[in-house]
Amino acid sequence: MHLLEKAPAKINLTLDVLYKRPDDYHEIEMVMTTIDLADRIELTGLKSNIIKIESESQFVPSDERNLAYRAAKLMKDTYKVHKGVKIFIEKNIPVAAGLAGGSSDAAAVIRGLNRLWNLGMSVEEMAGLGAEIGSDVSFCVYNTTALARGRGEQIKELPAPPSCWVVLAKPSIGVSTQSIYQEFKIEGVEHPDTEGMIAALEEGDFGSMCNKVGNVLESVTLSMYPEVRQIKNQMELAGADAVLMSGSGPTVFSLVRQESRAYRIYNSLRGFCDEVYVVRMLGYHKPLD
Ligand code: ATP
Repeated sequence: MHLLEKAPAKINLTLDVLYKRPDDYHEIEMVMTTIDLADRIELTGLKSNIIKIESESQFVPSDERNLAYRAAKLMKDTYKVHKGVKIFIEKNIPVAAGLAGGSSDAAAVIRGLNRLWNLGMSVEEMAGLGAEIGSDVSFCVYNTTALARGRGEQIKELPAPPSCWVVLAKPSIGVSTQSIYQEFKIEGVEHPDTEGMIAALEEGDFGSMCNKVGNVLESVTLSMYPEVRQIKNQMELAGADAVLMSGSGPTVFSLVRQESRAYRIYNSLRGFCDEVYVVRMLGYHKPLD
């Protein structure tokens, strides 16, 4: 038996840190949505009782460090499945980029194994299991637009954003989320208007959505990595309707209504940045191709 799952990247329309919790995690509030830049996960059932990871990407670990491996192990252990699986990861999402690539792979493995092994799990059950692997995995199980709270694992679905183009640029540096949180200071932070963003999505108002984007980690990453600031400035100069860093970075994205403007921004980044993508916003659950 053999099946495919799409594992799309996410972007943050907002990212706010509310406070530091006694367990040392940050209490966060984020509006996230899904974009049409995706890894492709191929699952093949094996008779032998092993989990095997394969990928052509040099950035993807092939052992238990891989979040896709951990997802399969957790599914096997939780449901006492005595079968194996081969997981092939076609990596298209840049790694350590703030786009939740690893989390999305793990979520796709959970969705896929639920089908492959006929486990009959609900979306809520899959999201709950995903939270044991990482904070963003629950969101990625839904593949939608949502408000995420807590460590990121409490999900409330929101309407999909108005249709638009997303230009993404990732400088050739990897940023560790942990290092950015270590530098982050909550005092004096300008919090994004999360309620305003939710209202913009509910009204389907593109202009208002663009006005409300905000990420409290952006100034930390920008001050540590000047190349990220340079990309942000360049996108603004080239006429983006909104520009924001996703997650802890270093990927910066632009939102634009017009396709021609998306490609103007894309072209203006040549020479600045090796990895640039123009994709559509998705934001809603898309059935398998
Ligand atoms: P987030 O936005 O959740 O912080 P990210 O986009 O910054 O995620 P990932 O691409 O998920 O980061 O990768 C972060 C680290 O996780 C990498 O250093 C990588 O070695 C490891 N990793 C584990 N599993 C995977 C996977 N399936 N794909 C990519 N990286 C993975």
